[in-house]
Amino acid sequence: MSSQTPKTVVSAKDISIRFGQVQALEDISFDVHEGEFVAIIGPNGAGKSTLIKIALGLKKADTGTIGLFEDGRSLKPSDIGYVPQLKTFDRTFPAQVIELVVSGLRHNWVWSASKQETILARKALDEVGAGHLAARALSSLSGGELQRVFLARAMVREPNIIFLDEPATGVDTLAEHDLYHLLENYLKRQPRAVVVMITHDLSVARFHSDKVLVLNRRLFNCGTPEEVMTEACLKAAFGHQGHGHSLKFA
Ligand code: ADP
Ligand code: MG
Repeated sequence: MSSQTPKTVVSAKDISIRFGQVQALEDISFDVHEGEFVAIIGPNGAGKSTLIKIALGLKKADTGTIGLFEDGRSLKPSDIGYVPQLKTFDRTFPAQVIELVVSGLRHNWVWSASKQETILARKALDEVGAGHLAARALSSLSGGELQRVFLARAMVREPNIIFLDEPATGVDTLAEHDLYHLLENYLKRQPRAVVVMITHDLSVARFHSDKVLVLNRRLFNCGTPEEVMTEACLKAAFGHQGHGHSLKFA
């Protein structure tokens, strides 16, 4: 570990957003530093997806800002990878796996990939253990396979920030373990990158992340898993939704 203070890659300041009568987020502030694996946890409707969409520029906060790389450099699309919540994806979309991954290299959909794009996309698929799926139709994939393909798409440009929205949904347990392993290896290869992941699985937050944000409209806590994942904090943030199996690890 370097003795220098790690650089701030994501800096959220006083983010608030309201949808009609619903105050979805209120005064959220936190920083993510290079090399960090961050887990965002909180009950359904806590504002987790909204927070990531604001960071991505897909939604505009009513007040506050989320700065990415505040060291003066201009942001390129290739700096950011995004794995959206899969349930929002139309599985019948008529495309091949390789085409979806190539689309991560461009701003829009592409029906014919260049040789170089195909090479990069194949490399990204190999890295997530999905090289054998390249020629398959998206509609033929299992949930776990589709998740890997989206991960390859997010990683194909070797971004400095990867946002993932509940990436383990629909993935079997073994594949899920691979997924976190992959992300951890990515951070080893790219030590200045960050991974910000929404998860409903508290043990994932506890065992795989460096920093946890406990969110339910407001930020209940932010720190290392040991610091913030106390029974009191989780009960306060999850309320009655905390009676499920996911709290039992504590
Ligand atoms: P989470 O991802 O933690 O489950 P979301 O960020 O999806 O939560 O949603 C937070 C709250 O904001 C919820 O009450 C949700 O219904 C509401 N919400 C999110 N997006 C919209 C929208 N476009 N229009 C109206 N309400 C929304
Ligand atoms: Mg969500």
